[in-house]
Amino acid sequence: MKHILEAIQAGASGDAIGNLAIPDSYRAAFVRRDDVAMFEGIDSWDKDPSKSIHVDDVATPELAPDEVYLAVMASSINFNTVWTSIFEPLPTFGFLDRLARESEWAQRHALPYHVVGSDASGVVLQVGSAVRNWKPGDRVTVHCNHVDDQDPSAHDDSMMAANQRIWGFETNFGGLADLSIVKANQLMPKPTHLTWEESAVNALCNSTSYRMLVGEHGARMKQGDSVLIWGATGGIGGYAVQYVLNGGGTPIGVVSSPERAEILHRLGCDAVIDRRAEGYQFWSDEHTQDESEWRRFGKKIRELNNGEDVDIVFEHPGRSTMGASVFAAKRGGTVVTCAATSGYMVEFDNRHFWMKLKKLLSSHFANYAEAYAANKLIYDGRIQPLLTDTYTLEQVGEAARAVHHNEAEGKLGVLCLAPEPGLGIDDPDKRAAIGEDTITAFRAR
Ligand code: NAP
Repeated sequence: MKHILEAIQAGASGDAIGNLAIPDSYRAAFVRRDDVAMFEGIDSWDKDPSKSIHVDDVATPELAPDEVYLAVMASSINFNTVWTSIFEPLPTFGFLDRLARESEWAQRHALPYHVVGSDASGVVLQVGSAVRNWKPGDRVTVHCNHVDDQDPSAHDDSMMAANQRIWGFETNFGGLADLSIVKANQLMPKPTHLTWEESAVNALCNSTSYRMLVGEHGARMKQGDSVLIWGATGGIGGYAVQYVLNGGGTPIGVVSSPERAEILHRLGCDAVIDRRAEGYQFWSDEHTQDESEWRRFGKKIRELNNGEDVDIVFEHPGRSTMGASVFAAKRGGTVVTCAATSGYMVEFDNRHFWMKLKKLLSSHFANYAEAYAANKLIYDGRIQPLLTDTYTLEQVGEAARAVHHNEAEGKLGVLCLAPEPGLGIDDPDKRAAIGEDTITAFRAR
């Protein structure tokens, strides 16, 4: 890949980039099919992604007509890489095998290894024969909605497509690598004022939060709405806070340390609950929830929210918080959920739910239009990247372990082809106009 990096760094023309030879193999982070039983009998928390994620050369797949070869300059760690690396709730090889049954091109995905990663920024190297809107040399970011657009169910809302998948999680050839293959309908323009790693961290989490709160399929937050946001300095939570502030709402952010509370204050989120300092014990034992703790939590929210319950709860921790979330939503309010980090068998008191006419809304990633709209907000400098730290590709296992153990704020970037942090800014004037402090608000001061 050295010749490719040199050409990109030298500012080679699109034609010159299009003529570069694609190597037969490339460096990638992957898990092995032979390893899926390696953590059997070990508690989830103790399963160590750095033991199951390997970084080595893998064979370059052939390019399908609707795909592009992408030189990946940077990528990011998402929680789905944690799930893949600890083989929970299921080994992801089952997803690859199912995909492989769909078509001749799809068969490429069922391999003894799974290249992970669902975010990327980079440069288009070559395009398949059916690609219209993108060309070699284009600087792009990638969203992870992998959809077969010949399926009628994919039209309207592609998240409803029967064969909708998350690239790099339910497909092979993900973004934590020097090279990737992505469908042309996953590409979006790279924000010109951001570095490669700042550009790479947004698409998955930012688009998810956009659909949950802003898009027509989500909770459709209105000006003046108050929104309780769990994990408000985490990946999806950090974008959610910005959407609520931008949309004229009031975020009430939940975090677990004074340092995280400080990040929220820097963003302009004044109402913050430190759940660790408050010591909430929503579950008194493994099987029993404690309603008095929900009430104590609700009282705290009202103290911070002009005496009112919240219009929307942005939910993703799952089992540990869902009971409290349903309780905390106001009469007629909405709990919107996209995940279950602490456990997917959730429980809530249905009386509080139906008697107060609350709504529970599921959400999952975002369709292309939503991801594109969310990317435009990053591109225009209205939503900021959450990059807090940058790792090398060799350190992916370590970075995934930090996310698994809730040791990281915001998003962790990963340098793939980019040799060092700070490269890739195409429009320094735009960056200066938006402001360095604004762009880096999530980073330690
Ligand atoms: P993240 O960066 O690790 O942030 C998660 C945050 O949740 C943490 O910062 C933590 O904040 C909070 N948290 C963790 N466990 C908690 C618990 N038991 N109770 C209360 N808060 C808890 O992860 P992320 O990228 O935001 O993703 C969050 C979840 O959403 C993951 O399960 C991920 O797989 C899922 N997800 C789903 C989609 C989708 O499309 N469906 C997209 C993106 C992410 P504090 O400790 O500071 O409170």
